[in-house]
Amino acid sequence: MAARSMPYLDELNPAQRDAVETLNGPVLMLAGAGTGKTKALTARIAHLLNTGSARPNEILAVTFTNKAAREMKERVARLLGESVEGMPWLGTFHAICVKLLRRHAELVGLKSNFTILDTDDQQRLLKQLIVAAGIDEKRWPPRHLAQVIENWKNRAWTPDTVPSAESGAFDRKGVALYAQYQERLRTLNAVDFGDLLLHVVTVFQRHEDVLAQYQRWFRYILVDEYQDTNVAQYLWLRLLAGGHKNICCVGDDDQSIYGWRGAEVGNILRFEKDFPGAVVVRLEQNYRSTAHILAAASGVIEANKGRLGKTLWTAAEGGEKVRLIGHWDGEEEARWIGEELEAMGPGTRGQRPIGLDECAILVRASHQMRAFEDRFLTIGLPYRVIGGPRFYERMEIRDAMAYFRLAVSLEDDLAFERIVNTPKRGLGDKAQQKIQVAARANGVSLVDGAKILLAAKGLTGKGAKALAELLSGLERWHRAAVGTAPPLPDDDDVLDDGLFVASAPGAGPRVSHIELAETILEESGYTAHWQNERTPEAPGRLENLKELVKALENFDNLQGFLEHVALIMDNETEDSEAKVTLMTLHAAKGLEFPAVFLPGWEDGLFPSQRAMDETGLKGLEEERRLAYVGITRAEELCTISFAANRRIYGQWQSALPSRFIDELPEAHVDVLTPPGLYGGGYGAAATAQPARSDLHEKASRADVYNSPGWKRMQARSQTRPTGQPRETRNITIDLEAVSAFGLGDRVFHTKFGYGAVTAIEGDKLDIAFDKAGVKKVVAKFVVPAAS
Ligand code: ATP
Ligand code: MG
Repeated sequence: MAARSMPYLDELNPAQRDAVETLNGPVLMLAGAGTGKTKALTARIAHLLNTGSARPNEILAVTFTNKAAREMKERVARLLGESVEGMPWLGTFHAICVKLLRRHAELVGLKSNFTILDTDDQQRLLKQLIVAAGIDEKRWPPRHLAQVIENWKNRAWTPDTVPSAESGAFDRKGVALYAQYQERLRTLNAVDFGDLLLHVVTVFQRHEDVLAQYQRWFRYILVDEYQDTNVAQYLWLRLLAGGHKNICCVGDDDQSIYGWRGAEVGNILRFEKDFPGAVVVRLEQNYRSTAHILAAASGVIEANKGRLGKTLWTAAEGGEKVRLIGHWDGEEEARWIGEELEAMGPGTRGQRPIGLDECAILVRASHQMRAFEDRFLTIGLPYRVIGGPRFYERMEIRDAMAYFRLAVSLEDDLAFERIVNTPKRGLGDKAQQKIQVAARANGVSLVDGAKILLAAKGLTGKGAKALAELLSGLERWHRAAVGTAPPLPDDDDVLDDGLFVASAPGAGPRVSHIELAETILEESGYTAHWQNERTPEAPGRLENLKELVKALENFDNLQGFLEHVALIMDNETEDSEAKVTLMTLHAAKGLEFPAVFLPGWEDGLFPSQRAMDETGLKGLEEERRLAYVGITRAEELCTISFAANRRIYGQWQSALPSRFIDELPEAHVDVLTPPGLYGGGYGAAATAQPARSDLHEKASRADVYNSPGWKRMQARSQTRPTGQPRETRNITIDLEAVSAFGLGDRVFHTKFGYGAVTAIEGDKLDIAFDKAGVKKVVAKFVVPAAS
């Protein structure tokens, strides 16, 4: 076929053109972020098609996500100016391997209509095996075994090839369990995710004819994000490319961020050894980011020891420096970013307007998203969460909310169905059916149906006991829930002299709804359920539960909170509307946005506590690469922030700014002052004296502790122990009054005389008067007195 015009080549620099036009033989593009690796890879596909070197189904192209695959297809079509027929082999490793395995299932003892297990099924199966092997499943939970097996599969180890050094897990029975598990899967004609790759590798290794067929078929192989391939993927690629060696891999060792999932950055560093004579293309011009952003990112990544090192430059001089801002707490951080986003609208920025859909907030841990989601829902700012459900749609949140819903109303059958056997308490399908029948027969709710069932002895043994326990729990929580939170006094109730009218008599000792929520999660065994899980996602789920309890602090009672969530969930914004993107740093790989916010840069959060506790630098260096990935997503505006305090379970915890902040080169950073309510803290001090080593000092010591905002926070956290409700009415806080008093201060009140401040809540003080006893008064009605 005669080559047609090739406008896509004109968009490339000479090095990129090299990589695109060197069609035969191995090619490695090893280059920094934003240098056009993915762009060149896409152009290469277009070129292969355009020059008639390959038909669409002869190209094997591997991307990291399905989304990236879709985008690549669209881009190729755009480059060629026509729609591309097919490209069946452009996708993720998993997507491609499913197709291959369906064709050759019988070679590994499966039928081509095998099913792919979801994690629930997988764990049920593993649990049966663990129990049958007489292993304590509390010590060795199924989820943990799933993880161990996944790791072995990532390394392409079958039960026969797991090295003996690795076989200590599960009382040394891990490998045997692995073998049994594979056997069971085969009988069930099923595979798990890891099998997709492993089985195909096995087929290729054992059946030369099959391998040879695909080596001929896939005439050109292309791989994006090569630095994040694991051993199994690497073997798979090497086998396929073994014949013609027309393989083009692109990646960046500085962006290897999946080591925790078995990725081996060594794969990319070994490429030239694996494929002698490889053309290695280095790209140095970054087309994505301004010079300040690029310099900031480079400054951070330079602190890593084990790296190749690269030069990067950009023609995009000028632009704004990377902005750095410290906040008092996580909520203020969310509020400030919300305001920044609102102000981004057309025409409000000095340069060109940035739309909401051009902005992204990239977080280290998904639990950080809750504060943003709540804030955005409150101010009506459209957003979307990529790579995971929105906070209130997460499994553990829905479970917990189902408990809360039942506490508020025992009639909530849907909620009951959700939690009756969550966590597992021996009330399986059969028991649930009986409850359903009893409820229907009597025309009552499931809770009442369950009671009837128990009374009629329709359920016996362990199940009956578990159900009785659950029911008594539900009733106890219900009583507590409807009895909580007597109404707060209205403004009218505040007498002229600032004294509150006592709350209605007979309200009795009150349990705050926050305490109640914690109690429910504990007594139901739900928190323990996740605490006992030794899986990578369990800590995240526990964090999310803490976040949920934290969210309750903004409400008077459970009912109000549930209503709020119901309303905001209903508040789905139109799809065509421009939205800000909320996602994890990991999910942001390969993407770019004009404006990027990077919140939560605090030691312990980013870098994560786990990485900091590790001996050796491996974990920390991976976190640093993640920081590099984060900064290099930004095109024009990059904002890094941290909070001096985060509230966990109603208690303030203070944190130091991330060590990565110290690594940002000063000349490329602007330190901003937080304009918020508690502003004027170390942000202001840092601006006055912008050496960031100072900032580190100030954030931890003088500035924080001496500022009125900090004192106020401290006062509040002391007077409001875990779980006490906070007022949610709009209170105009008289800052002068607030900062004028601290705990223990002596004051004078015209009516009650002298006393000492024992608690501070907003503008209200609890004062132990020498004569009149403890009273709650509004701060402006007292004056300081000498102690
Ligand atoms: P990452 O490492 O983050 O995946 P990358 O190296 O894959 O980055 P691309 O996403 O391909 O980089 O390109 C970054 C940006 O630069 C894109 O917006 C792309 O369109 C643009 N770009 C790439 N090459 C050129 C070029 N030669 N001329 C102009 N713009 C380019
Ligand atoms: Mg890329």
